[in-house]
Amino acid sequence: MPDTQSGFHSFGGKRRILVVEDEFVNQEILKMILADAYDVVIAGTGEAALEEVRTSGDRLSLILLDLNLPDMHGLEVLRCLKEDGRYARLPVIVMTADREAEVESLTLGAIDFIPKPYPQPKVVHARVLRTIELSEDRDLIRGTERDRLTGLYTREYFFRYAEQFDLYHPEQAADAIVIDINHFHMINERYGKQVGDRILKGVGGRLQSAAEDLGGIACRLDADTFLAYCPHTDGYAELLDAVSSAPEEEIAGESAARLRMGVYTNADKALDIERRFDRAKLASDKVRNTFSGAVGIYDDAMRESELYAEQMVESFPAAIREKQFLVYFQPKFNIQQDPPVLCSAEALVRWNHPKLGMVSPGLFIPLFEQNGLIRELDAYVWRETAAQIREWKDWLGTSVPVSVNVSRLDMYDPELVDKLSGIVRQYGLSYGDLLLEITESAYIGDSEQLIGKVRQLRECGFRIEMDDFGSGYSSLSMISVLPIDALKMDMHFIRSAFSEGGNTRMLEITLDISRFLGVPTVAEGVETKEQMLALKEMGCDIVQGYYFSRPVPPREFEAFLK
Ligand code: C2E
Ligand code: CA
Ligand code: CA
Repeated sequence: MPDTQSGFHSFGGKRRILVVEDEFVNQEILKMILADAYDVVIAGTGEAALEEVRTSGDRLSLILLDLNLPDMHGLEVLRCLKEDGRYARLPVIVMTADREAEVESLTLGAIDFIPKPYPQPKVVHARVLRTIELSEDRDLIRGTERDRLTGLYTREYFFRYAEQFDLYHPEQAADAIVIDINHFHMINERYGKQVGDRILKGVGGRLQSAAEDLGGIACRLDADTFLAYCPHTDGYAELLDAVSSAPEEEIAGESAARLRMGVYTNADKALDIERRFDRAKLASDKVRNTFSGAVGIYDDAMRESELYAEQMVESFPAAIREKQFLVYFQPKFNIQQDPPVLCSAEALVRWNHPKLGMVSPGLFIPLFEQNGLIRELDAYVWRETAAQIREWKDWLGTSVPVSVNVSRLDMYDPELVDKLSGIVRQYGLSYGDLLLEITESAYIGDSEQLIGKVRQLRECGFRIEMDDFGSGYSSLSMISVLPIDALKMDMHFIRSAFSEGGNTRMLEITLDISRFLGVPTVAEGVETKEQMLALKEMGCDIVQGYYFSRPVPPREFEAFLK
């Protein structure tokens, strides 16, 4: 049995067994049976046994205990061991000829018996090994069942026990509850890990007892997220209060850590247990930045949007296959010429969904950015756009450059450059036919790598417009080294500049930056003649917006080309 020799209580390659036995002959017999596989330590008295446990109990895997000892009864030794919490986990096998003592030994915590006179060596071996393995499994479970810091259940066990709870209480309505600590990373950064740990322990402990009071269980999911699964209650505010009420010594800075809570009440038991907590988490994140109620309840509206999102993800593959995604075109005009001249267009996707009707990208783009489908959708839009440009060139003998949107996620695609230039070649276009709009926020993060990627695209021949400029937080120093061909200012600049009490200062600053970079400025979201003229006055070059045209299907766009 070589691999059972290396358990985690083993010492010097062998597990150690303490034999508590005063008779020499019995000592020798047990040594003979066990010494090959185990490190056997002998104690001749109860006192010596307890001393051995006190000094090196951590190294012991098992105690074989005789009940007839010269200084005290074996049961007394057993009681002492079980009363001392540190050694309660140590498994004990009682050795006795006295059948009567068995029941009492069991109540005191003995695990098994070996009768006297001793049975065959292989029987002794089997019992010893089985007992050690059982106790080590139990220790292992205990080690992974509980979170080290807070003593709450760990994720896996929590979900398992919650499922068990349902199994035994199928009629009991239950709530899935998530508790988050607001800005926990900031607490950690500001006051140190020790303070952070103290808060986690405090919150965990209070949640544990609150959950127990309700008849439920609690778990620490990850850093600062806690879960509870409890029989249904309406007292959420009270629950949150109880968990929030930190004692003086747990408070860092001026006030106690602020908690927020999400509840999925009367959770649908047909739903996967983890999904139920996803919903509670969704409700918690809804109240993330609100100062009023810190309790969010999963409701019908959230359910609606979840279902909607699910439906969109599910129908995505068919939508690509069946070309439900349509590409619309919105013209951009050069307004420094009189009259303004069409100079390019932007390709904008629409989803003609068989059940939901025409869906605007505002509803599905953010979702697809989250789950990664955006890459496939973008590539589809690029191809469709390229095909359209090709068609216009062939049929009308003319075309304008069309810009396509490139998402942040695309920028991390190692094959991006190959994909885009592949499309240009496949449709026989020139690199100037396809402009790329890259949103400013794509540059945040690993900007070195992204700037490198943009350089590559430009070396290839593509021209780049920085989209939504002013909505992200790119630094001035980065902008000054940025390889771009146009700045497209964020629509909200136009909105606020031309709204009540607004001013055009931000527009002017953006125009200054463009001039500094030596690139034209594109203004989008321009809806009125007044806005267009003001922009022209300020020196803005290109305008896109409802004033000229909404995004329209290709057939309608052809009117601008003719
Ligand atoms: P965006 O790239 O900033 O596109 C401009 C949005 O402003 C478009 O909304 C356009 O219809 C709208 N717009 C244009 N002129 C006006 C105006 O005068 N007034 C108002 N109120 N709005 C105007 P749309 O088409 O709904 O697209 C929204 C966003 O969805 C886009 O913002 C873009 O971020 C994303 N998107 C659209 N198509 C694609 C695509 O193929 N790929 C990717 N990755 N994103 C896309
Ligand atoms: Ca755009
Ligand atoms: Ca934009």
